[in-house]
Amino acid sequence: MTAFIVDSPAYSYLTDTVSHTGYYNCRKCVTRGEYEDTNVAFNDFDAAIRTDEGFRRQDQEEHHRGRSPLEDLPEIDMVKNFPYD
Ligand SMILES: [Zn+2]
Repeated sequence: MTAFIVDSPAYSYLTDTVSHTGYYNCRKCVTRGEYEDTNVAFNDFDAAIRTDEGFRRQDQEEHHRGRSPLEDLPEIDMVKNFPYD
């Protein structure tokens, strides 16, 4: 199994997704964060799980800034191969 072990800024760069301070930045689900004090908090524990197919279709367009060249490689799962570091 391939895995990209990267911190949040590198994840955003590699996958062309919103920054780690964005409301829709969770790699694993489609929850919307809420601004609390100085952080974006994720309090919805029932949000739908993000999938490779949904990622590639950009089902949640707010999560994406563009299209990553890694999506040209079908053997990469754009969700499962990016675990949290
Ligand atoms: Zn999540």
